[in-house]
Formats: sequence, C-alpha cells, structure tokens
Amino acid sequence: MNLESAAQEFRSHRWHLSFSPELEARFEADTGGARSRHLVTAGLAGLAVYNMFLFNDLIVRPQVLAVALCWRLGVMTLYGLTMLALIRYDLVRPCWREAGMASCIVVAMVASCMIFRHTTSPAGNYDPFVFGLIFMAGNIAFALRFREAIVTSALALGVAAAFVLDQTSMPSEAKLFALGLMLGTGVFTVMACYRVEHASRQSYLLILREELRAETALRSADEFARISETDALTRLANRRWLDVTLPLLWMRAQKRRDSLAALMVDIDNFKRFNDRFGHLAGDECLRSVAAAMSASLREGDFIARIGGEEFLVLIRAASLALAQAAAERLRLGVEQLAIAHDGVAGQAVVTVSIGIALIRPGPETDPASLIEAADAALYEAKRNGRNCWAVAEVHDRTVQTALWTKQRKAPV
Ligand code: GH3
Ligand code: MG
Ligand code: MG
Repeated sequence: MNLESAAQEFRSHRWHLSFSPELEARFEADTGGARSRHLVTAGLAGLAVYNMFLFNDLIVRPQVLAVALCWRLGVMTLYGLTMLALIRYDLVRPCWREAGMASCIVVAMVASCMIFRHTTSPAGNYDPFVFGLIFMAGNIAFALRFREAIVTSALALGVAAAFVLDQTSMPSEAKLFALGLMLGTGVFTVMACYRVEHASRQSYLLILREELRAETALRSADEFARISETDALTRLANRRWLDVTLPLLWMRAQKRRDSLAALMVDIDNFKRFNDRFGHLAGDECLRSVAAAMSASLREGDFIARIGGEEFLVLIRAASLALAQAAAERLRLGVEQLAIAHDGVAGQAVVTVSIGIALIRPGPETDPASLIEAADAALYEAKRNGRNCWAVAEVHDRTVQTALWTKQRKAPV
C-alpha cells in the first residue's frame, strides 16, 4: 500500500463501508486485536446485565424461575461464553468473529421470548418493552459491523414479532406499542452502527495516510542525507559525512578505550597530471584511485574524499601495525593501477602519499588533533619524496609533528 492508493481509497470510501481486499487485510491486521478485546469486554458486560434480569424474574415471576434459569444461564450464557472464548483465543476468522458476536443478538432474543411465552402472570406483558435493550447491547455496546447489525436486527425483530403477536394474553395496543418501540430501537441503533463503523474506517484511513506520508518524508530525508554526504565524482563519502561521523567514531573509541587511526591520503603531483592530460582525465584518475583505495580497505574501515585530491581513511580499534599495513595496501593499490603520469621528476605512474596518525581518544585530545597529526605526517611523507607513508604521534592536546616518522617507499 502506498500513498497514492491510500488517497484513492480515501476518495472512494466516502459512503460505503468496505476497503479493497489488500487494505481490508491491513485494517484487520492493525485493528483486529483491539476489536477482539473490545468484543470480549462488551460481551461479558452484556451477559452480566442479561443475567441480572434473573432478580426481576425471581421477584416478578417466581413460578417461571426454572425456565428463566434454563434460558438465561443454560442457553444464552453458555452460547455467549463459547463465542467469547473463541474470539478471545483467536480461534475464528475475522468474518466469523463478527457473525458469531452478531448471532448472540438473535439467541438473546429467542431466550427472552421463550421466558416471555412461559410467563402466565400479567407482568409478562411488560417484557417486550425491554427487548429493545438487546438491540442496544448488540448495535451500540458491541458496535456490531453494519452488515451484521442489519441482518441480525431484522432476524431478532422477526423473532420478537412472532412471539409477541402470538401472545393471546397481551392487549393488541400493548403489542403495537412494544413492536413499534422495538422497531424504532432497531432502526436507530443500526443507523448508529453505520456511523460508528464509517467513522472508525475513516479515521483508520486518515491515520494510515499520515503514516504513509511520514514514511515517504523519512525516506526522502534519508535519500537527501545520503546524497548530501556523498561525493558526486567518486561516490565516496564527502567532507560533510566526515564532520558528522568523526565525532561519533571518536566517542565510541573513547567509550571502548580503543585507538582510532586516521590516514590522510594525497595524490602526488596531481596538478601536473591535470596540466598534462587535462581535467577530464584528472577526474577519471580520481575515480580510479578512489575505487582502488576502497577496494583495498577492510570491512569496517571508512574512507571519504575530503578535498580535491585528498582522502581520509578512518580505522577503528586500530594499532600502529594495523594502520601501517592499511597505508601500505592503499599506496600499493594506487601504484598498481599503473595510471601513466608525465614522467617528470621520475614519476612514471600516479601515486599517493599518506600521513598516519594514531590516537587513543581521551580528555587531552580531540578529533581535530587526529586530523592535524595525520596532516603533519602527510607533510612529512611528501618531504620524504612522495609515494610513501609517514607516522605522527600526538601527545596531549598539541600535535608534536612527526615525533617519530617512518617511511616506506616502493622501489621505483
Ligand atoms: P603534491 O604532490 O604536493 O600534493 O602536489 P599536487 O600537485 O598534487 O598538489 P596541489 O595542491 O598543488 O594540486 C592539486 C590539484 O588537484 C589542483 C587541482 O587542479 C586538482 N584538482 C582538485 N580537485 C580536482 C577535481 O575534482 N578534478 C580534477 N581533475 N582535478 C582536481
Ligand atoms: Mg593536496
Ligand atoms: Mg597532491
């Protein structure tokens, strides 16, 4: 279900009470549990009220108490509790849940009519005036679905009419009033069923539409965030991504007492490459170098293009040996691309220089000092002749540039 089809349902759902099969299934999945709980609670309340009339039976017509007990407890309560148990333990499909609950209205009407028929005292003539309560329980308290409500209300009314008209001891004016009252109660409560079901489906659609809108907005926001943090040329993460991610990695390393390594990578004599082969070739070279470096990293390492021909690699839970091995893989990976350079100053192919910095995050250091140290080491690698890497150490807050440096240069 998407926003478009939800909107379509919303338009077509103005008056009628059914959704498309797909939405009907979703409606049931989302609301069925609450509906069952409501039916069980309302059903128990209905049974309690129905059986409270046993006190009336005891006071008004003690001679038929046995019949009343039999129909109220033996038939109605047993039937009702069976239905409620089936619903409570999810043993019936949703359509049978609704039909089963609606059938209680007819059973209640039959049971009440049987007690009414056995009552010989004039008090029995008042009975049909309270039968309307059965419509109220079913259509209002259970909030039966409109379709089930209209069918079972018609059936219950037919049952009541048959019994009432058949009762010879009841004056015909009383029969007319009683049946009129029942008909009115039935009609008004069935109308209420329509309103309630329509409103609940309408509000479900409104909520669903808002949920789908929020989902779409979130997806777009995610997509925008991804685009804004991706470098368009190389498809690597960009500077903005680094600004967000570095503090997070820093905090995590601090919490775990791990070291964090930063490798600042810069393409050697790239300006000359551009001058010699043109800007488009330069772009292609940047893409190839980026792909080669990505491929040489291990799972869990991060790489971003942070400037024109500068990249930064972050390695979590790093050691000096690990960072040096990664730098060598990066350096070698680019060299092995064998992208021809102009040969000036003995540089036959495109290469990179790398500055390594390793810090165990603590109160005396911050992310900026890691980047500064990697930068200082890169400067050292450039000074040492390029196509190599150097290491810088950070002491306290200040970067002590290349306190010790080490370099490795592949044979030319
Ligand atoms: P060094 O070895 O000292 O790093 O020298 P370098 O020439 O690589 O460094 P410099 O900073 O002098 O030049 C970087 C060049 O990178 C300049 C610019 O033309 C080029 N550059 C930066 N961004 C892009 C880009 O997106 N595409 C292309 N084709 N070139 C770029
Ligand atoms: Mg540079
Ligand atoms: Mg450069």
